[in-house]
Amino acid sequence: MKASLTQKDLYWNPVVETLPPAKMRDLQLKKFKKILEWAYEKSKFHRKLYQQAGLEPGDIKSYEDIVKVPKVEKSMMREIQRKDPYPYGDALCVPIEEVTEFRQTSGTTGVPVYQPDTWQDWEWWAEAWAYLLYAQGYRKTDRVFLPFGYNIFVAFWAGHYAAEKIGCEVVPGGILDTEARILKIQELRATAMMATPTYVLGMADTAKKKLGIDPARDLTIRKITCAGEPGASIPSTKQRMEEAWGAKVYDHVGATEIGAWGFECTAQPGGLHVNEALFLMQLEDIETGELIEEPGRKGKIIITALDRIAQPCIRFDSKDVAEWSKEPCPCGRTFRVIRGGVVGRADDITKIKGVLIAPSAIEEVVRSIKGLSNEYEAVVTKKGDLDDITLKIEFLPEEEKNREAILAQLKDQLRLKTNLGYNIEVHPYNSLPRYEVKAKRFKDLRKHG
Ligand SMILES: [Zn+2]
Repeated sequence: MKASLTQKDLYWNPVVETLPPAKMRDLQLKKFKKILEWAYEKSKFHRKLYQQAGLEPGDIKSYEDIVKVPKVEKSMMREIQRKDPYPYGDALCVPIEEVTEFRQTSGTTGVPVYQPDTWQDWEWWAEAWAYLLYAQGYRKTDRVFLPFGYNIFVAFWAGHYAAEKIGCEVVPGGILDTEARILKIQELRATAMMATPTYVLGMADTAKKKLGIDPARDLTIRKITCAGEPGASIPSTKQRMEEAWGAKVYDHVGATEIGAWGFECTAQPGGLHVNEALFLMQLEDIETGELIEEPGRKGKIIITALDRIAQPCIRFDSKDVAEWSKEPCPCGRTFRVIRGGVVGRADDITKIKGVLIAPSAIEEVVRSIKGLSNEYEAVVTKKGDLDDITLKIEFLPEEEKNREAILAQLKDQLRLKTNLGYNIEVHPYNSLPRYEVKAKRFKDLRKHG
């Protein structure tokens, strides 16, 4: 009896979070068939896609059959939208009057994709976030502060509702500016917050420099949920955030078109659990498309939201890259773990001077060096036939005196961890771009000539 009480306290859904893998695959197959049938029946877009591939829902009989289902890419969604039923077009599976939520993707390039959700979908969003917040230790006793602009991007909207669902007290930071948010956190003694890694570091900076507040000493935030950028899964960036706030920092991953599909738990296993009860996540070889089930091999994430109905997400090619972890997580969840979180974008993982590199590897090095500021920029260009990579950095003002030693350490670590030589450009402190939401610190200019 005592054991089951403890378990109940550990997991949001003790049954599915500890389901044996074989049973989980069965559950996923069952749900996959159901959502596939739904889309085939209700969405002109999906029906056409599957008919062109000569596939009918009944053809999917086993877990292994799932890879036969054609993938959907963001560009395909762009093409069908801004048409009737306006503005969603042919992938909409419910009468337009059933839609209760509008969101759009927040990518830095291209036309945004619109995302309709029904009320049932919206409750599903909150449920997915409840798994992750509960796994990160959010409980009824927490007062949660949300320092984000509530707008057309989904960002932390579902985090807000999930925190309420768990029973936390939620403070919407809305349009307050950064200083006002920090003062509100202090006044209300908030215990948890959610933000992008860039903003978590930026807030700590503002608190110290403009308000004379040391978040680790003067504020009561003890857990921070990150999203939007990979930072919370990059050890050196995570450490910077945890030290600045005196808090545990947890990663989470999701997307407007998919949902909140992955999360770090309080055991901080060096990776993210995939919420396999609500999502089917498969890894495919970037070049051959072969399904990857074994740990330690990087692949592209192909993902299905198993219960989302208004605009289904079936075998969506996220272009994100990950690998399965060898070790089960000490927290006891059987949801599989991706090692190091999402390690990059399939489009961003690129060959420079013949070396395969993920931009997150550069971040890991820069953020691990104490004398450098949090900001940097890596720019790849071509000089004649040769690739060239420039890394722009800033020294912290108090570390200027150690310039030479820091530079030597940086060059050493870059060569060791990324196998590349860089042109290092030192920029004055506070002169590189600062980002409020999603940062774009890796620029590959070779593709544009
Ligand atoms: Zn875990």
